[in-house]
Amino acid sequence: MTCDASLAVTDNILNFIDGAYREGSGGESFPNVNPATGLQIGIVHEASEADVADAVAAAKAALHGPWGSTTTEERVKLIAAVANEIERRSDDFLAAEVADTGKPRQVASHIDIPRSAANFRMFADVILTMPGETFRGPTPDGGQALNYTVRRPKGVIAIVCPWNFPLLLMTWKVGPALACGNTVVVKPSEETPRTAALLGEVMNTVGIPRGVYNVVHGFGPDSAGEFLTSNPDVDGITFTGETATGEAIMQKAAVGVRDISFELGGKNPAIVFADADMDKAVEGLSRSVFLNTGQVCLGSERVYVERTIFDAFVERMKKAAEGFKPGASGDPAYLGPLISAEHRDKVQRYYRRAVEEGATVVTGGGVPEVSGNQAGGFYVEPTVWTGLAHSASVMREEIFGPCCGIVPFDSEDEVIALANDTPYGLCASVWTENLSRGHRVAAAMDVGVCWVNSWFLRDLRTAFGGSGQSGIGREGGVHSLEFYTELTNICVKL
Ligand code: NAD
Repeated sequence: MTCDASLAVTDNILNFIDGAYREGSGGESFPNVNPATGLQIGIVHEASEADVADAVAAAKAALHGPWGSTTTEERVKLIAAVANEIERRSDDFLAAEVADTGKPRQVASHIDIPRSAANFRMFADVILTMPGETFRGPTPDGGQALNYTVRRPKGVIAIVCPWNFPLLLMTWKVGPALACGNTVVVKPSEETPRTAALLGEVMNTVGIPRGVYNVVHGFGPDSAGEFLTSNPDVDGITFTGETATGEAIMQKAAVGVRDISFELGGKNPAIVFADADMDKAVEGLSRSVFLNTGQVCLGSERVYVERTIFDAFVERMKKAAEGFKPGASGDPAYLGPLISAEHRDKVQRYYRRAVEEGATVVTGGGVPEVSGNQAGGFYVEPTVWTGLAHSASVMREEIFGPCCGIVPFDSEDEVIALANDTPYGLCASVWTENLSRGHRVAAAMDVGVCWVNSWFLRDLRTAFGGSGQSGIGREGGVHSLEFYTELTNICVKL
């Protein structure tokens, strides 16, 4: 794809291969658009198949260069330095992330950028305290044997990322990959290439050897994403994105039997019991539905509320939704745009379909009036529905917008069955002041993560991932080490 040169373009966003910035060798590029205005603000230089092969070759070579002989302690120091440098340059990362996503600065400065630094710092700590196992036992000849494990880097890791929390979700994988001694080739989303590219500068500044961290820009099929995931010198693929993309990547990973770790889509339920603290539940769930304009894999698009408090809860969520101001940049209640015109069209299709499927639109459902520079941005109204059947596609498919359907329930068993009746299994939240019920219902959820009286409260040492079509494997704390290392058992006859 070639960009439209008549548009205002200020930035060149380059690939980062073997420690240096490069245009694509095929001469291709595509526009970088600010979703808050709809205007082109940069040119992304697309990696050709040869560029992707170069990046993988650089990563493979780096495994055998100075990086390959670093001790854990040396790597930990370098990785902590990456965290410090992200913090020192947080204004640059903030500007890049806001330009790519249009998200409120307040969201990026409180979530995206600090979490990215924390991702490196936490895995630097985890690797130093990595547990191993040792067994001493009898052998058939009456002697003894000592068995113990060592962990080795897996090799070249391909990291394929989405656009909703670009730097945060990428560093969640780059941090442990490097801590374990791997090298990486990152394919950021075509919508949000800036922070991945900027991180190359940080790697050079702190002295990460060339070839350890590489970035290739482009799309999925027949572009950088597919070139990378089908490269035979990639030893493992970690991917965050849509379930359908995970299926396509899994087919590529099957060739050569390469390992995968997948964090995929969801249609997450929230359950509010009549004994919940209403203020906390409304506050938590309005964040869970509307934060990042609903573009959060952990967001709640299905909200089940016990019938006796249903009307009161719906009224409170309506007020909360109407408190968000799409396009009112600078306002503390600013609701950012969706990532692209294409995604806005998809969300609008679901808004129309909800009505066709019998929803009562409690609030929203349309495109807001936005004036000034943001008039071309990709905004939609925060939206709440009631009256949708469990079988409605709007209640079954991931929309990834600022919207939810609220449904009444009468019993605990009924709501557990409703919540679990989905092919997805990423997360859930349960809201109740009854301690026993909180534990019981959380344990009954068929998900990777369940919150009680909270949402998106993360301790990075815990396992994160989804069951069913929401993912394969768990990352976080020592769980990340399972994917980013090969475990060797050593057996010594004593
Ligand atoms: P996406 O699957 O469209 O794209 C993700 C990445 O995959 C992009 O870099 C894209 O270029 C690349 N890609 C697309 N097709 C490919 C192919 N055939 N081969 C190789 N690479 C390919 O996802 P998105 O729209 O960027 O992100 C939104 C999705 O991500 C939602 O479904 C959301 O739930 C999910 N998500 C999940 C988590 C989680 O932790 N489970 C976190 C964030 C987002």
